[in-house]
Amino acid sequence: MKIGVLALQGDFAEHIHMLQRIGVEAIEVRLAEQLDQIDGLIIPGGESTTIGKLAVDFQIMEPLRAFGRQKAIWGTCAGAIFLSRDARRTQPLLSLMEITVERNAFGRQVDSFEVDLDVPALKKVDPEERPYHAVFIRAPLIEAVYGDAQILSQLDDGRIVAAQQGRWLATSFHPELTDDDRFHRYFIELAA
Ligand code: GLN
Repeated sequence: MKIGVLALQGDFAEHIHMLQRIGVEAIEVRLAEQLDQIDGLIIPGGESTTIGKLAVDFQIMEPLRAFGRQKAIWGTCAGAIFLSRDARRTQPLLSLMEITVERNAFGRQVDSFEVDLDVPALKKVDPEERPYHAVFIRAPLIEAVYGDAQILSQLDDGRIVAAQQGRWLATSFHPELTDDDRFHRYFIELAA
């Protein structure tokens, strides 16, 4: 099992650390050829417009789409935007996951916050049901899921912050910035 982290921009180093901490081999991915070496790919948080622009420049858009049709991809925050079908504005997107996202949905006043979430799916990797403490930073909202995409977690007011479609995972928040490794272990199971 080897997991790649798209390392064009954003907090890819934190994902690598978390993967190493749970004993998974992890590599930084910048080139299309490197996709052949990995079983799953994480797209980190950062700026989705920058990640998209660099992915176009590095000629890795089509290789990423082809990879995603076969294997697991998880986008956190900006990565979730990049993975989506629709971000309601023009920017390069992988357009894989059947979700519509709204960028910077929480506005300036609460551009960063932390909240305890109920994520029933995490029972798969840890039977003890404890809340998932999620960190949001200028986070997108998952406005809608359709097709085969399903909701994994919602805020108390019903707004969607995590979704899954087969082997694709999207989280509005940043599990790589916490000590809680359940989401990373959940993704490893999807990639296996
Ligand atoms: N606001 C960023 C965007 O729209 C995402 C922020 C993040 O990844 N923490 O791309």
